[in-house]
Formats: sequence, structure tokens, C-alpha cells
Amino acid sequence: MPALPADLLLSQSALADFAECPLRFRYRYLDGVRLPEATAPEVRTRVERGRAFHLLAHRHFAGLEPVVPPGVPHAAELAEWVRALHRFCSPRPDRTYLPEFELGLRAPDLPLAARYDLLVLEPDGRRTIYDWKTSPLPPSGRLAASLQTRVYRLVLALAGPPYAPAAPEDIRMVYWYPGDPDQPAVLSYSAELLAEDAAVVGELVRRLRDTPAAAMAATDDDSVCRHCTYRPLCFGAAREEVAEEEEASEILATFSWDDLPEVNP
Ligand code: SF4
Repeated sequence: MPALPADLLLSQSALADFAECPLRFRYRYLDGVRLPEATAPEVRTRVERGRAFHLLAHRHFAGLEPVVPPGVPHAAELAEWVRALHRFCSPRPDRTYLPEFELGLRAPDLPLAARYDLLVLEPDGRRTIYDWKTSPLPPSGRLAASLQTRVYRLVLALAGPPYAPAAPEDIRMVYWYPGDPDQPAVLSYSAELLAEDAAVVGELVRRLRDTPAAAMAATDDDSVCRHCTYRPLCFGAAREEVAEEEEASEILATFSWDDLPEVNP
């Protein structure tokens, strides 16, 4: 029976898998089950558009020309999105831009990993986490309570120097959708929110660690199963089409577990 590796670092997507369906966590992270994708071509194209935009944004903040190759699907839209990104967040010489930046937190109770689309270090000590979404943003309340927001801010706040600011109040997280570039969701942080995040995420980590693989049970929520990759395995039925951002983040959240810069708070 597979067991949790002692040095496992948990991403927000791994925690979300466990929170939604422990059996899905087991299939994906302990058993390593990979099923062939039977995604509809139009969904696959949208996913590729999301991935292409993330690569272009990476190039933009790495100081490279974000050129959209002619002939790729959604080329005109991608070019417009890149222009919107340039208007929204143009690199300034006094700031440090860390695109696609990964941090691992080797804390005993919070073994977490985060991959930021962009982390910006400002000279006055403030830090901004940017996350690019390629579908319309959900309401701010939902973003604020999401595991992604909790894990991303928590990892940064506990990372220590040179990444963490002096106080959690100096962290903000910005979700941005290039299709609606003037309406970013900007979330502030505080010591109270940090304590809440540590409690919520810490409890989830504890539950995960205390659950033997054999006891990682299937959810009884059909709305979760309908869009699950493993629906063919559990129910012998194809999964229903997923929202593009869920699909994109699943692809983009593939960690290289061994290469994360670790910090010890
Ligand atoms: S199909 Fe449902 S029960 Fe099976 S792994 Fe997916 S979410 Fe869990």
C-alpha cells in the first residue's frame, strides 16, 4: 500500500484534490495513475491558449520579447493579451521580477510548495504575487477563501528572507484576467489572515497525514465526480467538459518536486 513520502511537499492543487476527494489525491499522488485524456478539441485549444499566455508572460518578465508565433490558435487574442499585460504591469528597474517562481516551505506542520506566475519584490519591502487567469475571475470572496490564495500567501509570509516581507501586511495578491484587464482582484493580507490560513491549511495537512492510503475514500459529491479525470476509473463513464481554467491550472501546477528552493522558517 503506497504511503506519503516523508519529504512530500504539498501544492495547493494537491491539497485541493485531497479536500475534494481523498481517493483522487491517492490516485494522482500516491498511485501515480495517469489516464489518457479524451478532451474535446475546443477545450484542448483553450487550454493551450492559457498555457501559451503563461509562457508569453514568463518571457515578458524574464526580459525576452513575448512574440506570438504566427499561426498558433488564438494568435490575435494572445497578441492583444500580451499588449494588455504590458500596459497593466510593465517592469520597472527598481523592482525584482521573478516569473514562474517556485518556493518550498520545509516547515514540519506546513510542508507546502507554491509556484507563482510572478512574484515582485519592491525596494520598500513590499511583495506582490500575481496570478494570471485565462477565464473570467470568480468573485473576490471566493478567490480570498481559495486554497490557492491561502497557500500562496502563507508560503511567502513564512519563507523568511530574502522573499518574505517584514510583516504580512506588506503582501498582496493580484489575480488578473487579460480579457478584462482593468478589473484585477487585489487581495491584501494581515497577521489575522495569516493565522487563519495557517490554521485552515495546517488542519488539512494534519488530516491528510493522518489518513492511511487505504482509507482515502471517494467523495459522494457527484458534482465533483462529473468533471474528474478519474471518472472512467470510478464509474466507467467519460468525464464532462471542465472549465478551461481548472484544466489549465492542472497542467501548469505540475511541480518539479526536487528542484524547489526550500526555506526554513
Ligand atoms: S471520480 Fe469521483 S470518486 Fe472517483 S476519484 Fe474522481 S472525484 Fe473521486
